[in-house]
Amino acid sequence: MLARRARLLGPAYRLFYQEPLHLVRGEGVWLVDAHGRRYLDAYNNVAAVGHCHPHVVAAIARQAATLNTHTRYLHDGILDYAERLLGTMPAALGHLMLTCTGSEANDLALRIAAAHTGGNGLVITRFAYHGVTAALAEASPSLGTQVRLGSHVRTVPAPDPRLPPEQVGPAFARRVRAAIAELQASGLRPAALLVDTVFSSDGILTDPPGFLAEAVDAMRAAGGLFIADEVQPGLGRTGEAMWGFLRHGVVPDLVTMGKPMGNGHPLAGVAVRPEVMAAFGSQCRYFNTFGGNPVAVAAGMAVLDVIEGEGLMANALRVGAYLRARLDDLARLHPAIGDVRGAGLFTGVELLGTDAARAPDGAAAARVVNAMRRRGVLVSSAGEHGNVLKIRPPLVFGEAHADLLVEALAAALEA
Ligand code: PMP
Repeated sequence: MLARRARLLGPAYRLFYQEPLHLVRGEGVWLVDAHGRRYLDAYNNVAAVGHCHPHVVAAIARQAATLNTHTRYLHDGILDYAERLLGTMPAALGHLMLTCTGSEANDLALRIAAAHTGGNGLVITRFAYHGVTAALAEASPSLGTQVRLGSHVRTVPAPDPRLPPEQVGPAFARRVRAAIAELQASGLRPAALLVDTVFSSDGILTDPPGFLAEAVDAMRAAGGLFIADEVQPGLGRTGEAMWGFLRHGVVPDLVTMGKPMGNGHPLAGVAVRPEVMAAFGSQCRYFNTFGGNPVAVAAGMAVLDVIEGEGLMANALRVGAYLRARLDDLARLHPAIGDVRGAGLFTGVELLGTDAARAPDGAAAARVVNAMRRRGVLVSSAGEHGNVLKIRPPLVFGEAHADLLVEALAAALEA
């Protein structure tokens, strides 16, 4: 299979794990490989309501057997979905536009922001990831130094979790103000601050809630917008709020979302303030062949049914707190653990060298990720140094699953 992949798919694809997984089936928080071995999935936020959830599968199958066209015909599905999804956000976010991927959503948001502000200057974090299109690759430094950032893009260091909580927001806002000044000094008009509201690729930086507000104010004072990239935290992952920006007490100008919306079916989109949408809407038509089609919105509706019906936000809050408490206990036994942080079912475990320098230890994180995989638990790593274990399971993850994960991590650290 490895040889066939290389021959057929070419050299840009990457696999997870030293011993790649060949998966054939999924159910809830479990994935099953070709040998019938079960793996505890603590990594997949796309299958947010659990792999192959029967309610979502049935909704997709029913709609696929009835009608699947596009958004240039009248259809109740997209209207009912837009009403329900916008109903989870502040009223100022009045329009919803649907796409197939988070990248397309961010790309569209950048075009809308440029039309509204007349500028294209962009401020992002130093190890951000925002997508695969030409425009987003130029704003995704985590793709590596080989991929050039846009000349209109300025990066700021991610929020620093080592600062006293009351200094995190002011320090981050200072960096954003400096980046705005750099844009202006280069003759570029700021269009937007674009951040993932849990800073996943920067190493999972969630606290203290509210710290983003000052940076958002700084961008708005310079005439730019705030685009909240909710592809990672959106749809209840943080437990306490449906959207990551709500934890920060800010109302974005644009909200981009994707991954969990269709539980694996391609569904993503942009929520936007009508006054911000107006310029783009008057200049340009929008049509996306697959985005928001009747099957996609049926999947989206079913996902919202399950999040509400199964109380998954409350679950994320409770199990996430339980998991981090157990990881804190583990940290007392293992000096390699420098920090345990996160919100709801999004957790980062930072690994540091155990000598006096306490440097980020990405190599240790890679060993731990692979050792856990051998023990049947799937996680990955994040951050500029790759040293933060990224634990981001489907929202149906329970306490017993958290126990299994902590046992596997303890054994991996021991080894
Ligand atoms: N933004 C963030 C924060 C992401 O994590 C991702 C995907 N990893 C994207 C955007 C792009 O989404 P997609 O892969 O659906 O294009």
